[in-house]
Amino acid sequence: CQVFAFLYWFLVVTIFLNLLFAIIIDTFFELRSDNKNRLSDAENVCFICGIERSTFDRNGVNWREHKLHEHDRWAYVYLLVHLRKKPKTEYNGWESYIASKLPENRSDGNRSDFTFFPMHRALSLRHLQERQEAEKAREQDALSGIATRQQRLVELNDASMKAIRNGDDQLAKTNASLSDMQRVATETARSTRQLVNTQLKFATRLNDLDKKVTRLVDAQGALGNTTPAMESVPS
Ligand SMILES: [Zn+2]
Repeated sequence: CQVFAFLYWFLVVTIFLNLLFAIIIDTFFELRSDNKNRLSDAENVCFICGIERSTFDRNGVNWREHKLHEHDRWAYVYLLVHLRKKPKTEYNGWESYIASKLPENRSDGNRSDFTFFPMHRALSLRHLQERQEAEKAREQDALSGIATRQQRLVELNDASMKAIRNGDDQLAKTNASLSDMQRVATETARSTRQLVNTQLKFATRLNDLDKKVTRLVDAQGALGNTTPAMESVPS
């Protein structure tokens, strides 16, 4: 019985110890990876402009020079301290502009106007930004050209549709005149048939009349032959 109790506690203690170790190791791993990410960010991303080191390397700009001189974070801190120390009545133009952007001098309650920081901008990358802007303008031009061409295509399509509709109208008119002509031709054929029938009847009647005349002539001839005979009869 004691052996079972010992085994039970051994198992429980082992499981709980493993859970505890897992939690501890996991926490340390997370802390280490957070620290590593933070260090990597501080080492490879400019604190002021937020542009990555690789962008500067690709464009031939010295990263250390940029980080330590062009965008020196301490220079910005000194500027803020300088603005707080200097009497407001002695500000020059750009000092007044930046002081008006600081949270403590804003009257509208907007506490996040840090537009005077060169975010995603750097003087040493000006040529790159100019090139990007030129490319953007070129793309814009190309897009507007495509839009113009599309508009012209739509207009051409409309004109074609109109022409097709006009052609359909002409075709319908031609069909109507063709059927009129057909009707006239049918009527002419019917009249010709009637005329031919009438002619045939007339010819038949003429033939009859001719026969009658022949018969009459024959009868007259017969009458002429008999008359001298009658004359020869003594009265
Ligand atoms: Zn920078």
